[in-house]
Amino acid sequence: MKILVLNSGSSSVKFQIFQMQEVKSIVTGLIEQIGEESSTITLKLNSGKVVTRIQKIADHIAGLDITRSLLIEEKVIESLDELDGIGHRVVHGGEHFSQAAYINESVMQKIEKLIPLAPLHNPANLDGIKVALKLSPNVPNVAVFDTAFHQSIPDYAYMYALPYHLYENQGVRKYGFHGTSHHFVSLEAAKLLNKPLSSLNAITLHLGNGGSATAIENGKSIDTSMGLTPLEGLIMGTRSGDIDPAILFYLSRTKGYSIDDLDRLLNKESGLKGICGANDMRQIIDMAEDGDKKAILALEMFNYRIKKYIGSYSAILGHVDCIVFTGGIGENDDMARANCCKNLENLGIQLDLEKNAIRSKEARDISLPQSRVKVFVIPTNEELAIAQQTQKVVQDMRM
Ligand code: ADP
Repeated sequence: MKILVLNSGSSSVKFQIFQMQEVKSIVTGLIEQIGEESSTITLKLNSGKVVTRIQKIADHIAGLDITRSLLIEEKVIESLDELDGIGHRVVHGGEHFSQAAYINESVMQKIEKLIPLAPLHNPANLDGIKVALKLSPNVPNVAVFDTAFHQSIPDYAYMYALPYHLYENQGVRKYGFHGTSHHFVSLEAAKLLNKPLSSLNAITLHLGNGGSATAIENGKSIDTSMGLTPLEGLIMGTRSGDIDPAILFYLSRTKGYSIDDLDRLLNKESGLKGICGANDMRQIIDMAEDGDKKAILALEMFNYRIKKYIGSYSAILGHVDCIVFTGGIGENDDMARANCCKNLENLGIQLDLEKNAIRSKEARDISLPQSRVKVFVIPTNEELAIAQQTQKVVQDMRM
């Protein structure tokens, strides 16, 4: 069974094809700078061969059409009809979708209706879907939503203490994101613990350019740090995470900041970058090692915020089987892991600093044998998770 995974942005599309029997990726690729004079398509084949094509690509349909030709030229596939399914990453599924959905007219309308909640992502995701349907009308398309895993969060956790009509009429509530990743690593954690997901209590920490923490009870998300949008919660590369909302009124009144200024400030100019000028964790670590005080502060703030979430999620879960670190920072930055878990013995968390320092691409336990709460590093694989969910929807449909 072959599944194509598409992650469509406004000017780029990431794609990957999986051979599901062997759980193996057979090609990855990226279409970049769609709409510009020199758009680029890059294919990375399993053989190690990299194919790059630079030419004007007017829109998503042209991009995928050229990609199809390249895939055929490189003998990855003979035609798109050979695919058993196409899985699309869709950022916002609102309250409609608690799992992946076979794409039909009604699903597309729902994704479109959710555009006000994800104005940057859902239109591009929808473009990707429309193009795939046009180029390969015989292949089933499946939408896999970033929000779906968090639909199990109870109302007292997802509601904001705002007038109720804003929830009823405007959909203002916590939705949460990175759901595909939190779900994927919790499945892997359950395997490491040799227990079913349905009895796993975990705190999963997805720390990449964006970051979020999730509390998982009996395999289900019961709270997560991102909210109505991906801005809430942890300190991220360029996003502030939690702040006092009154800061916005204060800046508007004292500095005349407009809504757009505030949006840019909180989403693009804050977080690690706002504090120390850099948003890439590797660069910040180098700066801190050179004694840069703002970089040291940024790291301290980053770890402190994660620790607060570990504490609050430990409180709501009561019993915690494991903490999972994932994402570019969670998987690679042993100092961040050590600092987030420091002095948490009272919560049953005891890191093995030697194991923590070992670099590896494998899922692994980095806690001491006596640690009541296991600490795992589990590489996430959102594309594979999308492919697996797509496969399940396609197989269920065929039955
Ligand atoms: P995205 O959220 O865009 O998918 P990633 O999950 O790839 O991002 O994470 C990117 C972050 O991971 C960057 O801040 C990068 O510096 C950090 N990172 C990658 N490798 C390392 C490393 N070896 N040590 C510390 N941070 C790392």
